Amino acid sequence: MPQNSPFQIDIPPTDLLSYLFPEGKGPSNTPIWIDAEEPHHSLSPKQLLLWVKRLAVGLQGMGLEAGDVVMVYSHNHIFVPVAYLGISGAGFIFSGTNPAYTVDETVFQIQNTGCKVILVEPGLLPTVIRASSKTNFPRDRIFLFSDKPTPPIHGFRDWRSMVGSVEAADKWRWKTLNKEASINTVAVLNYSSGTTGLPKGVMISHQNVIANVEQSIYMRDLEQPYHPSNRPPERWLGFLPLYHAYGQLWSIVAAARTLTPCFFMRSFSFTKFLQHIQNHKVTHIQTAPPVLVMLAKRPETSNYDLSSLKNILCGAAPLSKELQNEVSDRFKLKVVQTWGMTEVTCSCLHVPGGLDDRSGSVGYIDPNASIKLIDEDGKEAGVGDRGEIHVKGPNICLGYWKNERATAEMFDEDGYLRTGDVAVRDHKGWYWIVDRKKELIKVKGFQVAPAELEALLLEHEHVADVAVVALQVEHEELPRAYIVIKDEHNGKSTEWDIERWMAERVAKHKHLTGGAVFIEEVPKSASGKIQRKVLKEWAKRDAKNH
Ligand code: AMP
Repeated sequence: MPQNSPFQIDIPPTDLLSYLFPEGKGPSNTPIWIDAEEPHHSLSPKQLLLWVKRLAVGLQGMGLEAGDVVMVYSHNHIFVPVAYLGISGAGFIFSGTNPAYTVDETVFQIQNTGCKVILVEPGLLPTVIRASSKTNFPRDRIFLFSDKPTPPIHGFRDWRSMVGSVEAADKWRWKTLNKEASINTVAVLNYSSGTTGLPKGVMISHQNVIANVEQSIYMRDLEQPYHPSNRPPERWLGFLPLYHAYGQLWSIVAAARTLTPCFFMRSFSFTKFLQHIQNHKVTHIQTAPPVLVMLAKRPETSNYDLSSLKNILCGAAPLSKELQNEVSDRFKLKVVQTWGMTEVTCSCLHVPGGLDDRSGSVGYIDPNASIKLIDEDGKEAGVGDRGEIHVKGPNICLGYWKNERATAEMFDEDGYLRTGDVAVRDHKGWYWIVDRKKELIKVKGFQVAPAELEALLLEHEHVADVAVVALQVEHEELPRAYIVIKDEHNGKSTEWDIERWMAERVAKHKHLTGGAVFIEEVPKSASGKIQRKVLKEWAKRDAKNH
């Protein structure tokens, strides 16, 4: 039997803007999105809403139609929430891009989204110019997107030159969505490779985001009913990238919903991270295991007063209970885990925020959601047995963008999402992630799709065949390519040459840091599919000598 959450909550049946800015309640004037480097540079919900409306007026004035995609290619800054809510609030779709992307990776996202406008941080303009010429993207649809007004560069204008006036914004009203429309209207396209193949646009609806924020906040508050004496006001640090679901959920929408100040970091640097926790008295962070590794191992932590930090929410990749407890003991705080993936909006299992869990569990299923574990024989696994997580709930995405086949494959016959993650559960309904059966590699919490690296490596003139898999070294996953060289090119490339060739073509987290290795033959099944189980065994064997 699937396990339903014991908790049912009300999920506001409306669109994102009506959810965050309900009628009759004036938006707050207190700064929420704050630049961690220059804290006077901030936005309150009231200021944000005005910019959201101005952007919406501007985009609608350009003739965009409902459902058109706007791509945002930027590091974190306090105006990214304006783009996220302005684009989705005006009936369009927000799609963020990793600022580390190369030209070809950007080309892929421009083509795959079919975006109509690009907002680009000025420093990243050269990449977008090259990507736009490869895709014939109109130059007058590209705007500089900085948090401070920017003079034109090569004829490209600041996004503020395109937005509506304050007067027009004051008159503008967004289209409110009823429950059905909120369920069916896509707000965001985040990219994920899912259980197999290339990255795909995950269609996240207004209702998905609202549901997942409500579920996550419910789980955070569980076992710690609010009282000012036991819960001082929270202060967050917004360093998770805002092109990813995890950053969007907490630093944009949950911050607006709970009116929690969030100090934005442009990108992650450990020293700055420590400084900001100390200087801004940050109480809570949402993060991934690599940051816990740094907290546990790096000596410079003792140079900072981190005593304000009370709670770390950790997800996005496996975390051992040893590391969890080391950090929790050393800094005298709670580390609670969550499990999720882009296809569930962000998260679906949480350890309640009030508990001091030391077991390495990712907790139990969120309110209004349901979960089952399916074993190798396709049967439901019992208590203590391994099985693939299948989940259902109001936070599960609508499917993959313009990809009906992959969408059909992602759900089982009962409409549950197949996640590709393997877990066990105890008799109380707590879950532990024990394996990943899908192809995905996670490098410092970022997705790496083996199929993408394999396709690129096959473009190398010396490569005849290839398979990419994760090499597990301590707390890290490193992409490793097993390569067959064409007979006629034998001896012409070294493994190092291929690693360098790749490094010139993909963002850093996709580099072959687990090495390129030449082999005789890629293990394949009779139908020609790569036998990834065999590769995993090879990687296990090789990890011992790495
Ligand atoms: P993403 O779609 O980028 O959020 O990546 C989702 C994947 O990250 C999941 O399918 C898991 O493989 C992995 N993941 C997320 N949270 C956890 C966790 N708490 N423990 C282990 N793996 C996780």
